[in-house]
Amino acid sequence: MIVAMKSDATEREVYEVVKRISSYGLNALDLPGGERHAIGIASAIPPDLRETLAEVVGSMDGVDHVTHVSRKYKLASREFRSADTIVCVKGVNIGGKDVVVAAGPCAIESKEQLNAAAKAVKAAGGRILRGGAFKPRTSPYAFQGLGLEGLKMLRAAGEKYGLVTVTELVDQHDLEVVAEHVDIIQIGARNMQNYPLLTAVGKSGRPVVLKRGPSATIDEWLLAAEYVLAQGNGNVILCERGVHPLDREHTRYTLDLSAVPVVKAISHLPVIVDPSHACGNWKYVPAMSKAAIAAGADGLLIEVHPDPSEALCDGPQSLKLEGFKTLMGEMKLVAGAVGRGMV
Ligand code: PEP
Ligand code: MN
Repeated sequence: MIVAMKSDATEREVYEVVKRISSYGLNALDLPGGERHAIGIASAIPPDLRETLAEVVGSMDGVDHVTHVSRKYKLASREFRSADTIVCVKGVNIGGKDVVVAAGPCAIESKEQLNAAAKAVKAAGGRILRGGAFKPRTSPYAFQGLGLEGLKMLRAAGEKYGLVTVTELVDQHDLEVVAEHVDIIQIGARNMQNYPLLTAVGKSGRPVVLKRGPSATIDEWLLAAEYVLAQGNGNVILCERGVHPLDREHTRYTLDLSAVPVVKAISHLPVIVDPSHACGNWKYVPAMSKAAIAAGADGLLIEVHPDPSEALCDGPQSLKLEGFKTLMGEMKLVAGAVGRGMV
């Protein structure tokens, strides 16, 4: 259930509504919106209480109307919030008119490697620097990331080149140190349904990039987002990165671009696309990046490396810095063609 407050509702009236809902043992979330406050009831409402509650709350001062949300996910739904959510990180808006590009190496390998990538990302017009510090790989013997040293390098590069930073968090125990060094926390595809991790990130209030699990349906993905939102953290950015393919001969996963307009229709959350992990081959990254923008994506997450042939992780899918620059120019044209800008 969602309680939409009148645009001139006072703080006191909002407080009273939250208090009344809580008195029924329900979890009321105060969600300040652009024009007005909304209050969401995240917990399940017993069926016999539903009508009474809607009547009681509907007649309170400052309340405009009460709506029942029929979908399994509540806070992530368009019914809950009709306007697009814009996640603002250090002045960079994700989910607004402009398409935002995040790029960088799969794994942070050295200061030199990361800075070379950061410099190129910034020069080409990217706003966010990506880089993995914790890299649990398919094989336990493969490079596992630089950990804290990597986080320090990412923070330094972000500050040096004026870029927002994003890195993947894989273990709840590292949440504090990641939040201390990096602006946006990424939840990887393999952890999309790691509910304790999602809850912890939700509690942290930090912006989150939530990747879609390769086997997850769109509803499961939105329910994973709900875990973060239910903690009062509205800064969720969804990321489509490919689902399990029919065969792996030509691409690593299958980029589900139809998920972009679908999610934009049923949810208010921003959606970005990672063509690198989906394709698994740098050659196909430009085509899918442009297609993602045409499909309505709010941003891209692209792997770039100064020397992909020497990369310790995901070299075959990483664009060279020159290739990234060329792609940025092409993407700007596509963004313009669909009425978007690129910052
Ligand atoms: C990554 O972004 O480096 C990554 C591991 O992605 P995914 O979780 O989508 O596989
Ligand atoms: Mn990678």
